[in-house]
Amino acid sequence: MTTLRWGLIGASTIAAQHMIAAIRANGGDVVAVVSASADRAATFARDHAIAHGTSRLDDLLGSDDVDAVYISTTNELHRDQVFAAAAAGKHVLCEKPLALTLDDARAMVERCRARGVVMGTNHHLRNAATHRAMREAIKAGRIGRPLFARVFHAVYLPPNLQGWRIEKPEAGGGVILDITVHDADTLRFVLDDEPVAVTAMTSRGGMGREGLEDGVMGALRFASGLVAQFHDAFTTRYATTGFEVHGEAGSLIGTDCMTQAPKGDIVLRSKDGETRLAIDHENLYARSVRLFQEAVAGRGSPAASGEDGIKSLSVALSTREAARAGRETAIDLRV
Ligand code: NDP
Repeated sequence: MTTLRWGLIGASTIAAQHMIAAIRANGGDVVAVVSASADRAATFARDHAIAHGTSRLDDLLGSDDVDAVYISTTNELHRDQVFAAAAAGKHVLCEKPLALTLDDARAMVERCRARGVVMGTNHHLRNAATHRAMREAIKAGRIGRPLFARVFHAVYLPPNLQGWRIEKPEAGGGVILDITVHDADTLRFVLDDEPVAVTAMTSRGGMGREGLEDGVMGALRFASGLVAQFHDAFTTRYATTGFEVHGEAGSLIGTDCMTQAPKGDIVLRSKDGETRLAIDHENLYARSVRLFQEAVAGRGSPAASGEDGIKSLSVALSTREAARAGRETAIDLRV
């Protein structure tokens, strides 16, 4: 196994709750963390047994002890941090959405490509054993030609995350850039198909401040002709998550699978009745780090590449545009 020495850019919740453990589970070392605040960097480093905490990005990127960076700051900061990391020759695993505009996301991927560093987007859901099982079942022809998909991803945003997501449009807040972007990646992965157009309606259910949606429902048309429906929200305390694909010869019903935890079930319904697919659950973030490490070692690609990050961002931006304009909007999938 190739292990990496990581620098964290962002003293974030996702790093604290999932990614530090995922790196360590793969034998990787978290050697430094950078925060905008020296105090927060020091506290975060102490709390998570990281040797160095700094408020100077140059220190982290200038260190020969760092092979790769994991970027999990708020979304408006990703672009310049990826530029700086690539310039310093560090491999980059960046959080979604990659950026706030397509041009920025494309430039980020291009800089990493030009510098010869690996770039991945941390779309965790394509690492879920449930979604991988659905993709395999579709490829094996178990539901025939897929006709429709439905994504149930309306959740309740916990109080500790009710900051920039519901208050700061300039930080890339709102449910579309936060959650729809994941639906887009998961649909592309499970269906192995590309969305070409979207229509959507947004809502504000009491959480998002003026100008920031906290709920959305929409539909995507894929190149194959399949239509997918999605429902995302920050405001539904009691909803369950799910992912369904309905084909000519069968339906795959995924329950409790649009989550960060390695859990959920997939049932296949067809003329033969109902079968529960065998699912070998694995920590989603640990798998993301493992595939990223392998890619750095020259074996395969990150679970979600930089190009995947551009495409999921494009779906999200088109969804926002479609909702604002009140009409079906084409999705630009150029990378
Ligand atoms: P947080 O709000 O926890 O962290 C984002 C930034 O906010 C941090 O980089 C930090 O800045 C600052 N911050 C955090 N805590 C405090 C505090 N107590 N006081 C002041 N500032 C603070 O965000 P998330 O971890 O939820 O999200 C970070 C990124 O990760 C986003 O891009 C998000 O979209 C993505 N994400 C991805 C998930 C996935 O499963 N793929 C899941 C959740 C988030 P500083 O670094 O300067 O200290």
